[in-house]
Amino acid sequence: MSSGKQKPHRTTEREFGGVLGATCIPVFLPLTVLYLLSVCRSPSASVLQWPPPLPHASFLWEPVALAIVLGWMLLQSFLYLLPIGTVSEGLVLRDGSRLKYPVNGFSALCCSAVLVGLGLWLGMPLAFLFELIIPLAVAAIALSYLLAIYLYIRSFWAPAHALALGGNSGNPLYDFFMGRELNPRIAGFDLKYFCELRPGLIGWLVLNLGMLMKEVELRGSPSVAMLLVNCFQLLYVTDALWNEEAILTTMDIVHDGFGFMLAFGDLAWVPFTYGLQAIFLVAHPQTLSPLGAAGIILLNGLGYYIFRRSNSQKNQFRRDPNHSSVANLETIPTATGKRLLVSGWWGFVRHPNYLGDILMALAWSLPCGFSHIVPYFYVIYFSILLIHREDRDERQCRAKYGLAWDTYCKRVPYRIIPYVY
Ligand code: NDP
Repeated sequence: MSSGKQKPHRTTEREFGGVLGATCIPVFLPLTVLYLLSVCRSPSASVLQWPPPLPHASFLWEPVALAIVLGWMLLQSFLYLLPIGTVSEGLVLRDGSRLKYPVNGFSALCCSAVLVGLGLWLGMPLAFLFELIIPLAVAAIALSYLLAIYLYIRSFWAPAHALALGGNSGNPLYDFFMGRELNPRIAGFDLKYFCELRPGLIGWLVLNLGMLMKEVELRGSPSVAMLLVNCFQLLYVTDALWNEEAILTTMDIVHDGFGFMLAFGDLAWVPFTYGLQAIFLVAHPQTLSPLGAAGIILLNGLGYYIFRRSNSQKNQFRRDPNHSSVANLETIPTATGKRLLVSGWWGFVRHPNYLGDILMALAWSLPCGFSHIVPYFYVIYFSILLIHREDRDERQCRAKYGLAWDTYCKRVPYRIIPYVY
């Protein structure tokens, strides 16, 4: 039904376990979110308890939770539309055009912080988010399903050149999961770009703050562990929104269609599983020694340094290879005309940015102590995600750069961790 004159590209190579993966993941991952939240809040917090502590059906659904999720989406949409910040162009699309994107995510974060601060001052019971966490997650999961169904249906009206190369296999389940349309927009409002960083990431911070307020309500003051988790994750989200423009060159925006995978990831998975540590700490308080806290702060600082410097170096090199900060780095040419860095951070390992990210993820879990595995869920899952993502990226780079990529791999043999992987 695609209305373009061009014939749509057919996806033949399947990712994420093909149709089987695309059928199982949308069932399995939402249940995982509810399971992890329930384990974190349960007295034993053990993943070995049987039967698993899934929430009772009567606690799944709260109209107020749906109202909060919808209100939050509306607020973030309003902040997205505010004519503040700059406008940036994305990479050149297959039809030769470039889309424009508002770069005002950091302003949206600041406005949200002011509004939440105002709400707290007026007595908004933010600690209540702890009790409401499961109905909130259910509402966010339902919303991501509805959004993905809408995206799948509307993609049949998109022109052929607007479809993602990886999401048009002809199998409805696979294409629903991967996303058919690359950049779905409603009157210029870019749905994928909007969902990527704003409602989920800023929402995650508000949930963390809610957990901190719950600790204050229960114990009179926030613990050092809770403060560390809040501060580390605040730094991570602030960095992402401060550097919002960088997302325009990522795989999610450039390559992946907008379907269930990204909609669920952005709206439900990130806000409700990345902050499990704060939820865990409410129910399972931890004491940190000053030395332990200092070590964890150092680890987070080191991870952040590697993550930020390596990402900035590559972004700067891709934007302007003659810039003084990157002009002296050694590079190898490729047949596409683009060059690959083989010294500096990208000569250290092939994905230094992933290494920094994993170190930070570890620092977020350590304040929760060593008695339970569930607050380590994020670092375990994230390491698997980045190993898989690195593998996908390698395949794409090998297809793009051919022999030059093989030369790069010989020059820089380790993928993420030097001398290990
Ligand atoms: P990357 O920033 O790692 O970009 C990969 C691309 O960089 C390649 O496709 C290639 O593209 C280019 N590239 C690779 N090697 C070189 C080289 N030697 N010289 C020059 N260019 C090179 O992609 P991601 O989107 O995966 O990651 C971005 C950041 O986001 C990372 O820090 C990651 O950890 C983080 N992230 C966080 C997630 C989360 O849930 N918290 C999820 C996913 C990512 P080209 O040559 O076409 O420019």
